[in-house]
Amino acid sequence: MEFLAQYNDGFAGGMGGMGGGFNMVYLVITGVAMLLSRWAGSNLQKKFQKFSQLPIEMTGAQVAQQMLDDAGIHDVEIISTPGQLTDHYNPVKKTVNLSEVVCHQRNVAAAAVAAHEVGHAVQHATAYPALKMRSTLVPIVNLSSKYMNWILMIGLMLAAGGNTTLLLVGIVLFAATTLFSLITLPVEFDASKRAMVWIDQRNIMSAEYEGAAKSALKAAATTYVVAAVASLGQLLYFVYRYMIARR
Ligand SMILES: [Zn+2]
Repeated sequence: MEFLAQYNDGFAGGMGGMGGGFNMVYLVITGVAMLLSRWAGSNLQKKFQKFSQLPIEMTGAQVAQQMLDDAGIHDVEIISTPGQLTDHYNPVKKTVNLSEVVCHQRNVAAAAVAAHEVGHAVQHATAYPALKMRSTLVPIVNLSSKYMNWILMIGLMLAAGGNTTLLLVGIVLFAATTLFSLITLPVEFDASKRAMVWIDQRNIMSAEYEGAAKSALKAAATTYVVAAVASLGQLLYFVYRYMIARR
């Protein structure tokens, strides 16, 4: 989930109706989050399509290789991966995974995405603190997201009966995933910044095209901002329910 943050529609879904009646607040929070997430996703897709029409000389793979070489990174492999907007950097295998379109095509959108992913490789090579923190959270988040929906659902039901302990456990687990999506923001913004600095220095496209590349990366970053805000909104809702039950 490096390039496109996808908001999970099933995320804690349906819990508004559990433990304490039909809850409008929860429905509004998740509804708005879903709409924003769809908008951000389709906006990204539109921008990507549009800037795929602007030709440059290098393929995404060539851009990635050149940027890696310039950063003095020689132990990261570039591989082509199936799907659309599936581009990501894998810190465990040390691979820059570029979707087929990005890997082989010669246009502004492909170059922007390729340079962004190498931006993550550079973060990894230079031990960028936010990336390290994010990596540390991965196993915790994987474990949390496996159980937190159930724990929150049962926790809300028990809280309605006066026992708030399980709800508190659910909130702590959920808070870990919220923290993860918040730490993702500086990581993503920084990777895009590194990409744009390199693109500008290397002069691989015109100034006008650079504006387009920046705009494509901004659209990608927006999907992460929406995911983080949605997660924060849901967390606040559960905290609010907890405080009500404790009264
Ligand atoms: Zn990224």
